[in-house]
Order: sequence, then C-alpha cells, then structure tokens
Amino acid sequence: MISKKAQEIPPFIVMDVLEKAQELERSGERVIHMEVGEPDFDTPECVNEACYRAICDGKTHYTHSLGLVELREAIAEDYWKKYHVTVSPDQILIASGTSPALLLVFSALLEPGDEVILPNPYYPCYPNIIRFIDGSPVFVDVLEEEGFQYLPEMISEKIGPRVKGIMINSPANPTGNVMGSERMARIAALSPFIISDEIYHGLVYEGKAHSILEFTDHAFVINGFSKLYAMTGWRLGYVIAPVEFVRPMQKLQQNLFISASSFAQWGALAGLRDAEKDVRRMRETYDQRRRFLIPRLREVGFGIKVEPTGAFYVLANAKHYSTDSYGLAFDILKEAKVGLAPGIDFGSNAEGFLRVSYANSLENIKEGTDRLEKYLERYR
Ligand code: PMP
Repeated sequence: MISKKAQEIPPFIVMDVLEKAQELERSGERVIHMEVGEPDFDTPECVNEACYRAICDGKTHYTHSLGLVELREAIAEDYWKKYHVTVSPDQILIASGTSPALLLVFSALLEPGDEVILPNPYYPCYPNIIRFIDGSPVFVDVLEEEGFQYLPEMISEKIGPRVKGIMINSPANPTGNVMGSERMARIAALSPFIISDEIYHGLVYEGKAHSILEFTDHAFVINGFSKLYAMTGWRLGYVIAPVEFVRPMQKLQQNLFISASSFAQWGALAGLRDAEKDVRRMRETYDQRRRFLIPRLREVGFGIKVEPTGAFYVLANAKHYSTDSYGLAFDILKEAKVGLAPGIDFGSNAEGFLRVSYANSLENIKEGTDRLEKYLERYR
C-alpha cells in the first residue's frame, strides 16, 4: 500500500529526540533542550510588524512564483553588500524554507543515478532528499583529526562521470566549521556544480564566511531566514541559481508549492532592511554561550579537538563513554533530562559524538551542562 520511497526515507532522528523530550515534559519533567537547531530568540519586532501590516493591507494572496520582486532585489543587494557579488533578482527564487529550496535544486539538476558529493558528517536532509529523487550521494570523510575540514583533494578523488554537484555547507551543521577562502576557491575550481548551503551565514564568531559566488558562478546558493533572523516557523528560504536553471525551478515551484507565503515575504523584507541591530545582538549572545559551553563541555568530560567558530553547534566526542550515540543520547535524555542530538544522525563519521546546540539561554546551558556532569559521574 505505502510507496517504497515513503517507507524508505529515514526519520530526522533529532526530531525523535525532541518528541521524546516533549513526552517527558508532558509527564511533568523539566527537560533542557540542546538538541534542536532552532534559535531560542523571538523573531525581530520589525519583521513581525511588517507582516501584520501586510496582512492588514490585504497582501494575503499568491505572489509571483519566483517571489516578491522587492524581496529578490533586497537579497541581491544583501549579497552585494556582504560579498561584493553581482546577483540579478531574476536569478533568485523564494521558497517555503531552505528545505523545499534543496528539493527544487536537486530536482532541477539530477537525473536518476546522478551523484552529488557530500561531506560526512552532513546535514541529514541532504542525502535523504537526493535519494528521494533517485540521485545518489557520494560521501567524503570529514574527520575530527583534520579539524572537521572538507578537503578539496579528497573531493576531487571522488569526481567521476556521474557527479553533477558538490554540496558545501559553511558554517557547517553539525560541526560548526567555517571554510576558509583558499579552500573554497579550490573546491569552486572543480568542474561539477557547487551547491552551497549558506543558511548559517552571519552566525560566525571568528573569521568570516565566504559565499561560493565570490569564486564561481557555476553554483547554486541555498539560504534562508530561519537561523539568522530567528524565523524557523515562517518557512522562508531562497535559491540563487545560474540563470538557465531559473525557469525549470520556477515550473517545479508552480506545480509543487505555487509560491512562498506572501506576508512571510513582506516580513523577511523588513528583516533584511531593518533587523541589523537585532541580528548583531543575537550573534553576540550566541558567541557568549559558545565561549561558555566549549570549556564547560571539556570540563565535564567531552572531547573537542577543534573549536567550532560558526552556526550554533558543538560536535562533542563521547566515544570514551559509548560508541552508540543513539543509545547514549536517549539514555542522557531519560536519566539527566537533557536533549542532545546523536551524532549518527549526521553520518558514520559523527558516530560516537553528540551534537550540542547552544541555541538556548546561558542559564539553561549552565543547568544542562551541570546535569551532564552529574550523569557522567557513573563513568568515573
Ligand atoms: N540547511 C541546514 C544546514 C540546516 O541546519 C537547516 C535547519 N536545521 C536547514 C537547511 C533547513 O532550514 P529551513 O528552516 O530553512 O528549512
């Protein structure tokens, strides 16, 4: 009865941890959430106000399937301001989140059996979406010993006739690694299309994130408003694509989604124009938490070889406690009431690790790490 594809697509394990945590909360427990990749901040007020205004002004209809031209112009301007790259609003498609944007890009790019190179560890939805449309992920090891760096020489070893794209994600989920310009330039020089997930841009605490468009036009940029603007529930993302892909992606969008939410787009436009101060405040707060969390995780017993400098995650080595990250994460949740994401969700190279999110208040992070310290006493 149920299609093979629907049966075979794996769950997003971190959501299973979250749902189990919520079950504990319903039975009266207080759980510290460090599992989900979602800002704890409210959406900036200027975004909310622009959205209410749009609704009151009757901007509640479908928009152009590529998205509001005003928003596409503002995105083009943002990429010019931040990276000095020229993007035409006609190269931009606004989607209902970065996740649908990924589906549109891979659908427009891949024939069945075509390959996309991914780092391992990876953001779980990448291989799941690629397989869902009959593409084939090819993994490149990204190892703790090498500071979780995605290395161009290892990528080029995997390039064969069926490789259509190389996926990059800097700052990276789950490692928090930020790719330097020299490495990005070398990856950009490889011949397949580069698909660059830039959703954590702006959440960089040391150095600078680079856009792939600084190095090549042979690329798709995926970005969105969920992380930087604390807008996960608004469901808004976008693609910047080579011009010949825009019409095919637009046709897919028209059939699959029609357009992104109209008033969410008006809100996001205000975010790009007016939320700079809010974004700075959130970034500074994440950085304070990061500076507290890294030494504290080491103190309680986890291994962190290289300090993450972007996104809001620490991938902590827990192999000396257990090599079964799934079992360990669920046991920590049960015993210590702390939610953590099991490394295995992000690929075999993250097995034995736990991803700790610092998208939670410093007070909760302190409480969470105290609970972890107590839990880990059993191993001493
Ligand atoms: N890419 C990465 C690397 C992410 O971490 C996430 C969210 N967890 C997404 C894409 C999806 O974001 P959105 O809310 O825009 O669908």
